Amino acid sequence: MASMVSQIAFLALLVVAGFFIYRRYQFVKSNILLGRPNGPTDRKQERLRNMILIAFGQKKMFDRPFAALLHLVLYAGFIIINIELIEIIVDGVAGTHRAFAGMGAFYIFLINAFEILAALVIVACVIFFTRRNVAKLRRFHLAEMKSWPKTDANLILITEVILMTAFLVMNAADSIVAQRTSGHTPDFIVSQWLQPVCQSLSTSNLEMLSHFTWWLHIVGILAFIVYLSYSKHLHILLAFPTTYFSKLEDPGRINNMTAVTNEVRLMMDPSAQVEPVEIGRFGAKDVSDLTQHQLLSAYSCTECGRCTSECPANQTGKLLSPRKVMMDIRDRMEEIGDAKAKNNGVWEEDGKSLLGNYISEEEVWACTTCNACTNACPININPMEVLVDLRRYLIMEESKSPESITSMFNNMENNGAPWAMSANDRGNWTNE
Ligand code: SF4
Ligand code: SF4
Repeated sequence: MASMVSQIAFLALLVVAGFFIYRRYQFVKSNILLGRPNGPTDRKQERLRNMILIAFGQKKMFDRPFAALLHLVLYAGFIIINIELIEIIVDGVAGTHRAFAGMGAFYIFLINAFEILAALVIVACVIFFTRRNVAKLRRFHLAEMKSWPKTDANLILITEVILMTAFLVMNAADSIVAQRTSGHTPDFIVSQWLQPVCQSLSTSNLEMLSHFTWWLHIVGILAFIVYLSYSKHLHILLAFPTTYFSKLEDPGRINNMTAVTNEVRLMMDPSAQVEPVEIGRFGAKDVSDLTQHQLLSAYSCTECGRCTSECPANQTGKLLSPRKVMMDIRDRMEEIGDAKAKNNGVWEEDGKSLLGNYISEEEVWACTTCNACTNACPININPMEVLVDLRRYLIMEESKSPESITSMFNNMENNGAPWAMSANDRGNWTNE
């Protein structure tokens, strides 16, 4: 009877988790679809290669080997250990305990491998936690990392430690019970060190401890998966499409706007054949003016701050932080998504926009377009492209630019060059 109640509770848990994950999936998808369609996505093989090397192989992470190694342990360890989830689900649905134990030596080998990885994950989490909270690395303490982003990062690290510990304690309790009931103990490689702590418990208490940690593990994993979809850890999944769709040519290259190129070509040659394009807004004012790939990138941002730590504008005390640009895009998407959800899926203008309410003109103009941010980003996110789009909007739609740039534009218009002198006077210096 107790087993059946437990099975029903387990199935209910799966359904509830599935519901929340599906709901969040729909929400994120509809936010990303607020954007304009992406440009061409040809050269599929190159894209696939990029995705495998950068998202799966974490190639760019290895620019900083120590952090890369820890991240790899955390990433691979967590994914591999959760193969154990298959057994947990089978046990939960069938009301069994360690359904795969019949595999004998291979099962012991697998659990031992998972235990080693679990111990490494705990060590990596403790080091990451210390780096963030004690070592005071500048990039983890900038203005955009206060309050929720900081709590979010710490919560995940603490949760991972709890989940891994629950897994090890369950194994320790099960080993002692097996020893007491059948005289045989599997001697798991890491959890055997926890056995002395549990030895004083009675067999029934050990069984309760094993059940408790089993439930803690599965509830924790499901809660983690649901929570993951609400946090920056969505990058675990979205890094794959983000790198697949990232720019294949030099990411620092600023592409011309097709509509403007067409105009210029027609001015030079009225009979030129140009591909017609739909002109909506020049540049970007709000998230709906960005591409779906740019919006996807915002959801994929890990908030690691590598871009900001390489940004010359940020380093010289300017207001700009490329990480904040990506976080702002995500926050604005969420704001629109929430408003739509409250209004039966219909979006009504709220008088706000990404430019102005989230990203200031001062930030936009602080960018030197050096592209250091994209080079530093472990998953090829390109904040510079967004900043250029925001600038295009300011100049082409609102005729707004800082004084120094306005004079340059005037000179280009009047003198055909950025200098404040007539074209006829340009060679005067040769007279001296
Ligand atoms: S391109 Fe702009 S945002 Fe990116 S690193 Fe350079 S100055 Fe900073
Ligand atoms: S844009 Fe890239 S480098 Fe910058 S914080 Fe996000 S993931 Fe890190």
